[in-house]
Amino acid sequence: MILLVGNWKMAPNKSTEAINLAKKISLSAKTYKKSINTVICAPYIHLPFLIKNIKTGISFGGQNTASSEDVAQTGFINSSMLKSYGATYCIVGHSEVRAHGETDEQILASTVSLLQKNIIPIVCVGEKERDGHGWYLSSVKEQVEKIFLGVPKNQIKKIVLAYEPVWAIGKNAAREATVAESREMIMFIRKVIADITDEKTAKNTNILYGGSVNEQNAFNFISEGGAQGLLVGRVSLDAKRFSSLMKSISLSQ
Ligand code: PEP
Repeated sequence: MILLVGNWKMAPNKSTEAINLAKKISLSAKTYKKSINTVICAPYIHLPFLIKNIKTGISFGGQNTASSEDVAQTGFINSSMLKSYGATYCIVGHSEVRAHGETDEQILASTVSLLQKNIIPIVCVGEKERDGHGWYLSSVKEQVEKIFLGVPKNQIKKIVLAYEPVWAIGKNAAREATVAESREMIMFIRKVIADITDEKTAKNTNILYGGSVNEQNAFNFISEGGAQGLLVGRVSLDAKRFSSLMKSISLSQ
């Protein structure tokens, strides 16, 4: 089963638009439900409306959660709130949030708090840039180790990782990653997980690829890029393109 996660980021503006978009995505998701599990991570403000109005086809998630339940955190929301909305997934450690100074410690604490509430964390890791000496491998290793060494052992199998090279994300991406780059890094991440846990856990960890995924390249990231799923930003805001993407990856199963 492919895990397909749409990250709507800070769009759309109105909940009515969000519901209309989600209804269209839900129709396509139902068509491919045998091979694809579709999740939409929407802005918090839309989540209660989406969850109330769309009961089939897709699951919903948040885009981040606070690292503690201390109420003195203006502008944040916590995992208990996500749980009470009915969210079942939540992205953590997205590079756009890390860019505001979020630390690996906070990302670990957020991950643990989601697991405590039985919400599946989708933990984003990825290097800012590629160098010729392989230092980028150490930065991803550190991010993965922080999570896998910090989460209680009996919760590890619930974690979803998303490998998102920062240089390949969003409209300012330097370029798309190649399938070989994705495959190499996902293999490397599995090795890092195996060294901390065991081979079986490493093999079973759900690792997604994200970064300028579209209806043309999605199939290859799944069939040859080593990813078991995808984290998709811009294209998830376009129901037609997202549906073509679903069609293409369903053929890889
Ligand atoms: C993302 O924001 O996680 C992402 C992958 O965005 P995009 O698909 O637009 O590059």
